[in-house]
Amino acid sequence: MNKAVFIDRDGTINKEAGYISSINKLRLLPKTALAIKLLNQADYKVVVISNQSGIARGFLTEIDLKKIHRELALRLKRRGAILDKIYYCPHHPEDNCNCRKPKVGLLKRAARELNLNLSQSFMIGDKLSDIKSGINFGIKAILVFTGYGKEEYKTAQKEKIKLDYTALNLYEAVRYILNKGK
Ligand SMILES: [Mg+2]
Ligand SMILES: [Zn+2]
Repeated sequence: MNKAVFIDRDGTINKEAGYISSINKLRLLPKTALAIKLLNQADYKVVVISNQSGIARGFLTEIDLKKIHRELALRLKRRGAILDKIYYCPHHPEDNCNCRKPKVGLLKRAARELNLNLSQSFMIGDKLSDIKSGINFGIKAILVFTGYGKEEYKTAQKEKIKLDYTALNLYEAVRYILNKGK
C-alpha cells in the first residue's frame, strides 16, 4: 500500500486568485515544486484535492480546468516534481454532492484508486474545509499560512478545531511530515 499526502490547490500549491479560469492566472507559490519533489523522493503519492465550484458557477468549463491542470503538472515537472493525481469537485456548494470538501468523496476515491494506507497519510491546505476533510477522513491535517490560512487559523482557534500542525507554507509542512516519518 502507498502512503499519500493530499494537497489542496488554490492558496496551497498556487497563489489564491479567486476562480482561476485560465493558465495566465496560475502562479506557483515559492518552494512548491521543491516540496512536492521531496515527497516524490520519500515515496509519498502526491494527490491534489480541489474544490472547483467555478465550473458549476459557469466561470470555467471542465475543459478549461483540464488545461489548467495540465499546465500546473507541466510547470512542476520542469522543476522535477510529479503530481500523482489531481481530483476535483466541480459542483456548487448547494448541490450537496459528496465530493466537495469538507466531505471526503474525493479522498475515498483516491484511497481506492491509488491503494492508499491512511494511517501514514496527511492532508495539507489553507482552509478549514481542507482540515475538516482530513479530520473527517481520519488522517492528520496541516494548515498552511499561505492563501486564506492566517484568517482560517483564527477561526480554528475560536471554533476549537484540532489542527495537527500549522506551517508557514507547503514546503514547511512537507519538512514536518518527512521529519516525523523518521
Ligand atoms: Mg485553498
Ligand atoms: Zn462535488
